[in-house]
Amino acid sequence: MRPSEDHYRHKGLRKKLVEELKTKGITDERVLEAILAVPRHYFLDSAFTSIAYDDKAFPIGEGQTISQPYTVAYQTQLLQCKPFDKVLEIGTGSGYQAAVLGQMGVQVFSIERQKKLFDTNKEFSYLKSFRNIKLFFGDGFEGLPTFAPFDKVIITAAAPHIPEKLLQQLKVGGVMVIPVNEDDVQRMMRITKTEEGVFQEERFDRFSFVPMLEGKSNHQ
Ligand code: SAH
Repeated sequence: MRPSEDHYRHKGLRKKLVEELKTKGITDERVLEAILAVPRHYFLDSAFTSIAYDDKAFPIGEGQTISQPYTVAYQTQLLQCKPFDKVLEIGTGSGYQAAVLGQMGVQVFSIERQKKLFDTNKEFSYLKSFRNIKLFFGDGFEGLPTFAPFDKVIITAAAPHIPEKLLQQLKVGGVMVIPVNEDDVQRMMRITKTEEGVFQEERFDRFSFVPMLEGKSNHQ
């Protein structure tokens, strides 16, 4: 069962989490405000409410995880979102990253390849309360050509390479944040499309994500 109440106790825990993220180097006030606002315990079974605000990743079933708050904050900060940006997310997972972006007032298009996670998220009332979040069942390597181009693309699974189709779906001036495989972990990269066909690459810290896999999975 998902919890559906947000108490002062939870808000207090979120304040502490935000302070912890600041000491770890997150400075973007809009990102920190969104993390302060989104009840992360809604994304976990009520049995795990007491640890929902630890700065840790957590299993959510189907072999997937809800990303660590620091990782969510780090990627979101690198995206440099402006209100009303069109943002494509690959790997909806728990929906937490989508909610943080939604809370920041961008238009979120989030794709998940696992049918069961997609179906669960479709029924998740807190996520449904965001009119600016749209969920899709599909293969993130394909992106969403019908909704392209996007201002921003965020990949929240370990990418074997930078998917060409996603680069094509970026606007000129657009930014992609993607963890790309390097040895056993991933290097966070930011790709900026400076002109049509011209990309600038920046390298950041190393992280550990679950793999980005080809194709959809219908397993129930
Ligand atoms: N953003 C998530 C983190 C999810 S973990 C959160 O905030 O909780 C990564 C997710 O990416 C998993 O749910 C996995 O099923 C999904 N995924 C992996 N490869 C994918 C692909 N090719 N297309 C879409 N989703 C994918």
